[in-house]
Amino acid sequence: MTDFGMDKALKHLGLQDINNGTSTGQENFSYGEIIASYSPVDGRLIGKVKASTKEDYEKVMETATKAFLSFRDIPAPQRGEVVRQFGNKLREKKEALGKLVSYEMGKSYQEGLGEVQEMIDICDFAVGLSRQLNGQTIPSERPGHVMREQWHPIGVVGIISAFNFPVAVWAWNTALAWICGDVCVWKASEKTPLCAVACQNIIAEVLKQNNLPEGISCIINGDYKVGEMMTNDARIPLVSATGSTRMGRIVGTTVAKRFGKSLLELGGNNAIIITPSADLKVVVPGAVFGAVGTCGQRCTSTRRLIIHESVYDKVKEAIVGAYQQIKIGNPLNENNHVGPLIDKESVNTYLAAIEKAKDEGGAILVEGGVLEGEGYESGCYVKPAIIEAENHFEIVQHETFAPILYLMKYTGELENAIEKQNGVVQGLSSSIMTNELKEAEKFLSYAGSDCGIANVNIGTSGAEIGGAFGGEKETGGGRESGSDAWKVYMRRQTNTINYSDELPLAQGIKFDL
Ligand code: NAD
Repeated sequence: MTDFGMDKALKHLGLQDINNGTSTGQENFSYGEIIASYSPVDGRLIGKVKASTKEDYEKVMETATKAFLSFRDIPAPQRGEVVRQFGNKLREKKEALGKLVSYEMGKSYQEGLGEVQEMIDICDFAVGLSRQLNGQTIPSERPGHVMREQWHPIGVVGIISAFNFPVAVWAWNTALAWICGDVCVWKASEKTPLCAVACQNIIAEVLKQNNLPEGISCIINGDYKVGEMMTNDARIPLVSATGSTRMGRIVGTTVAKRFGKSLLELGGNNAIIITPSADLKVVVPGAVFGAVGTCGQRCTSTRRLIIHESVYDKVKEAIVGAYQQIKIGNPLNENNHVGPLIDKESVNTYLAAIEKAKDEGGAILVEGGVLEGEGYESGCYVKPAIIEAENHFEIVQHETFAPILYLMKYTGELENAIEKQNGVVQGLSSSIMTNELKEAEKFLSYAGSDCGIANVNIGTSGAEIGGAFGGEKETGGGRESGSDAWKVYMRRQTNTINYSDELPLAQGIKFDL
């Protein structure tokens, strides 16, 4: 691939030999089956990696476990310094990594760059946090006593990630885990293995420059079978898993069976409520970017528009009109808005969902379909579709990871829209478009959206790293990134210290000997 400077980008990321399956980032281990990565952009083979065997996994775990014992000795602000250097390295490699993300995953180059920017942002956030892993002192009921709460590193953190954010999700986890004193073992999506190797190459360079053990950051390659090695492994106290609800149900129960902790970031079914006072200038770009950005393959993609009947026709016309402007094509060409779906399996799921919606009584407002011909040779380019539907349709209740937007009406008061918005099993992101203060506050109140993310006058996608990210219900309940999400990467310890000469018992209990 010579177009759009991909060859140069691969070289810059140390992936020039990736085609023969040798540059895997962990050269010392023997490997199992070959995973070939084909670009959904043009269908070409980008490179190959070898899947990790049980033996490879054992070696990785040995390296990681050993690295943890020395890494936790390093003061947190010094660990922050390593993360600062990692952030700087990402700044140097931003264009190359952004390009690889775009080429291997299929999102637009702008979104690829945005994803790397998120990695840089979380590094900056983590550096500051490395001086603020604060515990607290707590008043004791006993004289001459004090209580304290401390946060200690938890150990080896297992990270399982999805294809759609092939680099950022890893960084959200690692940047925090590292400043907390943990080491990480990452199993990336088998659909985007090269992005993982590129990231590993970048951090490996930083670790080497700092004379730190390579086990601080490890990758293992492969599909769910490799992921299962981690979920079943009691040496991994925390598994952070991002992906479908189907996967989360298995991972969550497997980890719980061995009393491990899991941080689950699963599917969404995100809606925007459009009220009578909504400003169309904000609604249209918010809804359209939310629905078609990343070709509808964001966990926060907008799937449903719940529109008040009084403005329904006006909003429908504006959104349908905007869809006529969307340019679909090679995501590395910055004139295009929408790139391909990840693979043909995803294309089939998208087509089946449209058929199902029609069978259930949905009315097509913007026709979908697969694009063919020059520039669309990979067979993964589809047209974003809009369907008028009812919230209770089985297909509407389900997250289809593709650009299909369902439009539905609500009548009367906002409560009716909130009921629809909350009337799905997922609980990730939500938003309301309104200029009425009371409506906005109701939506954000305990009686409003039941999602982990609730926005006013912006769309459902495009979160910033400063806030905690995640959702409720079948989205899994985990929180990553900003706010106090760091606490999940540490173990909490409560201390009671007696500096008196007596031994009074709590609750006034007498125990005289
Ligand atoms: P997926 O569930 O197919 O795979 C995700 C990861 O889990 C992959 O690495 C896969 O190999 C691994 N995996 C699958 N089964 C496993 C098992 N039994 N044990 C261990 N590992 C297993 O998801 P996908 O198609 O890659 O990604 C799309 C999904 O991810 C969507 O549902 C999307 O909403 C969700 N997602 C959620 C968030 C979030 O933060 N909430 C972010 C990104 C993506």
